[in-house]
Amino acid sequence: MIAPEHGGAPTAPADVPRRNWAGNVRYAARAFHRPTGMDELRRLVAGSSRIRAVGTGHSFNRFGDTDGDLVSLAGLPAAIDVDAERSRVTVTGALRYGDVAQRLHAQGYALPNLASLPHISVAGAVATATHGSGQTHGNLATSVAALELVTADGDLLRVDRDTDGDTFAGMVVGLGALGLVTRVTLDVAPTFELRQYVRLDLPREALDEALGSAYSVSVFTDWRAPRLREVWRKQRTDQPPPPADWLGTTAADEPRHPVLGMPAENCTVQLGVPGPWHERLPHFKLGFTPSSGDELQSEYHLPRAAAADALAALDDVAHLIAPVLQVCELRTVAADELWLSPNHQRDSLAVHFTWIGDPVAVAPVLAAVEERLAPFAPRPHWGKVFTTDPAALAASYPRYADFAALLARLDPTGKFRTDELDTYFPR
Ligand SMILES: Cc1cc2nc3c(=O)[nH]c(=O)nc-3n(C[C@H](O)[C@H](O)[C@H](O)COP(=O)(O)OP(=O)(O)OC[C@H]3O[C@@H](n4cnc5c(N)ncnc54)[C@H](O)[C@@H]3O)c2cc1C
Repeated sequence: MIAPEHGGAPTAPADVPRRNWAGNVRYAARAFHRPTGMDELRRLVAGSSRIRAVGTGHSFNRFGDTDGDLVSLAGLPAAIDVDAERSRVTVTGALRYGDVAQRLHAQGYALPNLASLPHISVAGAVATATHGSGQTHGNLATSVAALELVTADGDLLRVDRDTDGDTFAGMVVGLGALGLVTRVTLDVAPTFELRQYVRLDLPREALDEALGSAYSVSVFTDWRAPRLREVWRKQRTDQPPPPADWLGTTAADEPRHPVLGMPAENCTVQLGVPGPWHERLPHFKLGFTPSSGDELQSEYHLPRAAAADALAALDDVAHLIAPVLQVCELRTVAADELWLSPNHQRDSLAVHFTWIGDPVAVAPVLAAVEERLAPFAPRPHWGKVFTTDPAALAASYPRYADFAALLARLDPTGKFRTDELDTYFPR
């Protein structure tokens, strides 16, 4: 076991956040807790009637907002244990991906993918099926090989992909509603390097080819022009750089930030300079503000085969989107078998919106976007803002009813439930 306190990198927030990162949710909890040991945590859960975990608070909705006890697990002793024989690492769930990644790289290991920011906790990100981009990469939850959680009665439950089969697939994207996740075991691979190139002005008809052109590709647009503004291509170092006339684009000759006017210094190194996977896969550097800070976010996962039709449907409301948008990002995620993964049995195009931080101005536009995307059975990101009809959401997930049954079995008194969870999974 590595004690990160003595090793340098991993750090934990000193207190329990009172509001989310974006500031649009002030947690309604009657008490905030930061236990320092497992016995204390288990007693707390056993004795509470309503309780939830908070990670680093980077989600934008109220799925994790309890009126009972809100508990940060960041005070538990941190651990990063590599099992070289099984190519796995077991980490405490409250650790941030960025801290885990630095430690893994130093020991010669990598994770297959990361989100746009390394600031988020492993357990919080996995609970909402957080993802990066790449046609052959699943979301971050697909790297989970085992979970340890404190269940409603305060017991410790360990579930493993190799022994718990289908139930395991139901528990990984758990929305924080099945228990408090204390440890997460992830698959690891040998460490590797990437180069990041930014290309400008992609023709819409070349989107699919661009998204499939490298290890991980993100395309940014602002819905103000027919062409797509930027392609962020994160490629293996043995892949040749994109040629000068690649897909009709031009090369950016200086570093960029996805949000116009924000400092490129906050972003990972571009211009084709090679660097370790964890310093190229995210768009934003640990220790710097990710994105813009004053914002709301929404995202919808659609069948990849419907990408062109779905974007054409949004063209009709581009004039509504553009005035309240900071940037829109298009990514790909490979299909998986996790019950509540938005990528469940569906290779996906993820259409993400970074809105201005004004919920009143954004609400009608969000409704218009959801209305246009409805024919494509969109599955919203579980950690972002959405108002999808609960029946439509249930219909888009083949295992929705199975998850509802799992909820009832593991949390019979509704200890981990919140108002928003009740809306989408009525008792
Ligand atoms: C600037 C920015 C960029 C982002 N980029 C991406 C991106 O590239 N890709 C993407 O998919 N998402 C992205 N997100 C969304 C973000 O990754 C998710 O919302 C993620 O859930 C945040 O993790 P967290 O630790 O902050 O979780 P929190 O917001 O703290 O919690 C999220 C949920 O997980 C539950 N939870 C937290 N910890 C535990 C635990 N230990 N046990 C059980 N349940 C727990 C909470 O109760 C809550 O329901 C971004 C968000 C921001 C602010």
